[in-house]
Amino acid sequence: MAKKVTAKTRAKPAAKKPAPKKVSAVGSAPAAKKVAKAKLAIKKPAPRKSAPQAKAVVKKPAAKAAGKPVAKASAKSIAKAAPKGAAKAHSTAKAPAKPRQPRWVYSFGDGKAEGSAGMRNLLGGKGANLAEMSNLGLPVPPGFTISTDLCTYYYANSQTYPSSLKEQVERALEKVEASVGAEFGDSDNPLLVSVRSGARASMPGMMDTVLNLGLNDMTVEGLAKQSGDARFAYDSYRRFIQMYSDVVLGVDHDHFEELLEIHKEDRGVHLDTDLDASDWKSLVTAFKAKVQEKLGRPFPQDPNEQLWGAIAAVFGSWMNDRAITYRTIHGIPADWGTAVNVQAMVFGNMGDTSATGVAFTRNPSTGEKLFYGEYLVNAQGEDVVAGIRTPQHITIAEKKQTGSKLPAMEESMPKTFAELTRIYKRLEAHYRDMQDIEFTVQRGKLWMLQTRSGKRTAKAAIRIAVDMVREGLIKKAEAISRIEPSSLDQLLHPTPDPKASKTVIARGLAASPGAASGKVVFDASEAQADAARGEAVILVRIETSPEDIHGMHAAKGILTARGGTTSHAAVVARGMGRPCVSGAGALRIDYRAQQMSIGSQIVRKGDIITIDGSTGEVILGTVPTIEPEMSGEFGTLMQWADEIRRLKVRTNAETPLDAETARKFGAEGIGLCRTEHMFFEASRIAAVREMILASDKAGREKALAKILPMQRQDFVELFRIMAGLPVTIRFLDPPLHEFLPKTEADFQAVAQATGVDVATLRHRERQLEESNPMLGHRGCRLGITFPEIYAMQARAVFEAATAVARETGKPVTPEIMIPLVATRREFDLMKAVVDETAKAVAAETNKKVAYLVGTMIELPRAALRAGDIAQAAEFFSFGTNDLTQTTLGISRDDAASFLDHYVAQGIFATDPFASLDREGVGELMQIAKERGRKVRPSLKLGICGEHGGDPASVSFCEEIGLDYVSCSPYRVPIARLAAAQAAISTKRAPSEA
Ligand code: PEP
Ligand code: MG
Repeated sequence: MAKKVTAKTRAKPAAKKPAPKKVSAVGSAPAAKKVAKAKLAIKKPAPRKSAPQAKAVVKKPAAKAAGKPVAKASAKSIAKAAPKGAAKAHSTAKAPAKPRQPRWVYSFGDGKAEGSAGMRNLLGGKGANLAEMSNLGLPVPPGFTISTDLCTYYYANSQTYPSSLKEQVERALEKVEASVGAEFGDSDNPLLVSVRSGARASMPGMMDTVLNLGLNDMTVEGLAKQSGDARFAYDSYRRFIQMYSDVVLGVDHDHFEELLEIHKEDRGVHLDTDLDASDWKSLVTAFKAKVQEKLGRPFPQDPNEQLWGAIAAVFGSWMNDRAITYRTIHGIPADWGTAVNVQAMVFGNMGDTSATGVAFTRNPSTGEKLFYGEYLVNAQGEDVVAGIRTPQHITIAEKKQTGSKLPAMEESMPKTFAELTRIYKRLEAHYRDMQDIEFTVQRGKLWMLQTRSGKRTAKAAIRIAVDMVREGLIKKAEAISRIEPSSLDQLLHPTPDPKASKTVIARGLAASPGAASGKVVFDASEAQADAARGEAVILVRIETSPEDIHGMHAAKGILTARGGTTSHAAVVARGMGRPCVSGAGALRIDYRAQQMSIGSQIVRKGDIITIDGSTGEVILGTVPTIEPEMSGEFGTLMQWADEIRRLKVRTNAETPLDAETARKFGAEGIGLCRTEHMFFEASRIAAVREMILASDKAGREKALAKILPMQRQDFVELFRIMAGLPVTIRFLDPPLHEFLPKTEADFQAVAQATGVDVATLRHRERQLEESNPMLGHRGCRLGITFPEIYAMQARAVFEAATAVARETGKPVTPEIMIPLVATRREFDLMKAVVDETAKAVAAETNKKVAYLVGTMIELPRAALRAGDIAQAAEFFSFGTNDLTQTTLGISRDDAASFLDHYVAQGIFATDPFASLDREGVGELMQIAKERGRKVRPSLKLGICGEHGGDPASVSFCEEIGLDYVSCSPYRVPIARLAAAQAAISTKRAPSEA
């Protein structure tokens, strides 16, 4: 096994709603009938089982958390915990006697807002955009946002609130009441609210939400009267009890589902819609009894207690397991915190003139400029996202495309559709980006509940960005900056060969592109465990939920039987870049039997399937694949990136296939040809072993003579493919014992070829054994001890260059690179071998080859002594795999066992072998660059460690002024785009971009 040819070093590419001004008639509630409006006593809810902070919550009795803590939380602690704005408000207050309290709450609605889209960090994405939509005069149910600062405060102060919060919430709630014309807790005309999370970065489904809050035994009657629909009112109440109990009180959702199922059975009905008001009423009673049974206390009737419970639950959910997992996967810092949005409810489930939906202003899978979305009549927003009912299309075009029989919103609600169209166009133009919107129609009136930049596939992202440049909405530089370079990975991988025969067993929605093959696994944790053992798995679920996130991340692909293209599975898979087929309705998944059937076809756990997330096909077995095309919008965007970037992008390649692939992806030369990889081929390994085991120079030279023609041919092919582009050939690097015979048969073969007996060979093998080969006899140390090896390699290079130059008529200028140099003397000795060989070959062939000799900088000493080394070396290439290993003193082959812990504990922000440690390794690079260029201003500088394909590291290379980055072939487009983005952000891009 080659030393560091580990995975690391060879990472090839390899919803809603508030009551409009009136669910209740304006001002109809006589004061006497009102439920005494309890003072906003902030009560902490009972702990939620899954939230790790639950324990701490238990320790803090309600009163302490709310009312009293005020006094306890010192101004200092507020200023410390609260973000700058708040701290500033504190310190700049003019009247020191009564310092101005930091602001925690921001209202919106009625065509105005105290926030705006620019306040995302403070208000979270949802809160900032609700404010922005309000400012735009769009129909947004009124509400308020409790800022992310409060979340920070909450966690910095043992999960307590600052004193000023209560009053600020009270005031904001009054504004909502005034706007809606209803009162929170009023038995005749109740205001109901939703309580939702909203972080800076979207974390779909990861945190908690409570809808229909404010309902109790009295307000439900008011809601029934105001809506004229007792069934609706009691259905809303039971939904509220169920959701609140699950999210806030920790009483599992399933208890209520079970009661509902039993009730339906008793009544002899199948559907929820077959139940009437009295059914829901008796279920409400049963639900409340269940809460009493589980908690030993009644379901809270006080709306204020409900509200504070929900607020605490949402803040608490920032630290739940799935949110933590999501943040880890997406690199979202824990200290960002979430905001809480409290908003008047509007109802999409008030009969057939009501609906709820989600839409994208352009197709999120393909990027096509077509309004695209789904809605459900008489439903709550969650029903769409959860994939429980099959949603209908919004536009007729979309309906036709899919052959759906259900009426599109454009047909069934033409006026509302027209208004929605006006609004989505306005939002897209305003934000200059594709929007993902959520809306509710309550009795014919449209309400906007959310807008945000829509998650999209890499393919769609590119098409949208390129189209928007053409539409004049954005500039080229912005289009380039909008594409996450690593997301290109989705486009760079093979897709099923359309000519290959395949057994399609089912079809679903093309929810996230790309093809993936693997064994079927029905459980997320099992998927994670199998993947950890290196197995490729396809996670198959009826539908996914946020609890499955770890398995989805570990799986190669995701297949679901239920759910649309906006279902959890689809949205999350797209975000992660995993291929996904969702809503394959023909699948009958039986978790107990660990199998799925499609008609008579049974697929069991462990069977191999392929899913094609670009077509929606589910295929039995593995399918041959073809390489992707670099054309269309992708080609356009890459061309723009090439116009803007300064850094050149080369590839790490040693085989003709890799070199060709890399060129197709736009590589501008080879930055690292690891010659040792060429030695492993079956046809050569015998001669290589012979060379290593030779006891003297003559023996080695005899074996090397056998290797020379093969090595020369390797270089001929690479020079041909690269057609005049630079090719950096790195001479033999790994410890020799890696090539040694391993099995008895290997030894026998060498013994036969060399005439040396096995015992002598074994003795020599033991001599070569090292206890720490990574720091042993490798790199230029091999060239120092056995110069004939490097001489053979130099000869192969020069003879090949001469041959190809003759053949093509164009000069070939090889760049010869000496590995693991620590001292100038080492380099000088090796350069002398190269120069002598060049002279000899020139004399023999009568042709001089121009060439460069340079070194890798992969040891701290080499970086520090760069001034010395650069006097002789014509280029440096940073070997950041070894430089990271030797700077940190962490073995690149063994780090995996503890690196996760280091990252989890914040010692490293990320794996330093994947993304450059700027502070340590980066500083050494900076030093090497400065010292090297000081003595040789023309010194060519590149990077060829794995970091050369990592966007953040590419950015660093731009910042310090390297000439090129070199990476594995499939990462070349990623590096091209990252280099362009780096040029834009360091302002090295041409100004017209
Ligand atoms: C390096 O060390 O960064 C490098 C490119 O060389 P190798 O991975 O072959 O040691
Ligand atoms: Mg190295």
